[in-house]
Amino acid sequence: MDCLFCKIVCGDIPARKFCEDDQVIAFHDISAQAPVHFLVLPKKHIATLNDLSEENDKLLAGHILVTAQRLAREQGCQDGFRVVMNCNDLGGQTVHHIHMHVLGQRQMHWPPG
Ligand code: AMP
Ligand code: ZN
Repeated sequence: MDCLFCKIVCGDIPARKFCEDDQVIAFHDISAQAPVHFLVLPKKHIATLNDLSEENDKLLAGHILVTAQRLAREQGCQDGFRVVMNCNDLGGQTVHHIHMHVLGQRQMHWPPG
């Protein structure tokens, strides 16, 4: 599978991983857009949010969200942070393996660009 994040999951490409369990990993974004900017993603390859299965992936999706929340708190972002999931090219997705961005430690603005 020619997928950058699958290669990070299996260790073929290095990344600053700081959390891993049987279902998800988290690592710092290589091009941080905030003092805290990390990604939480499933180990299993799911290309886009459109490919999440209502039948099979509900628990996994919830696990990604609660992991993001816990790690944000552990990174000192308990006063506020932002989560973003871009879907497909039109949604600004550049790596087609779903991932949740978590950004914090600076003021966020709305709407995003
Ligand atoms: P998206 O544009 O939502 O698909 O987000 C992809 C993110 O992956 C971007 O914020 C990139 O900076 C980040 N990224 C790309 N390559 C790497 C890498 N090797 N290690 C860590 N983050 C990466
Ligand atoms: Zn993948």
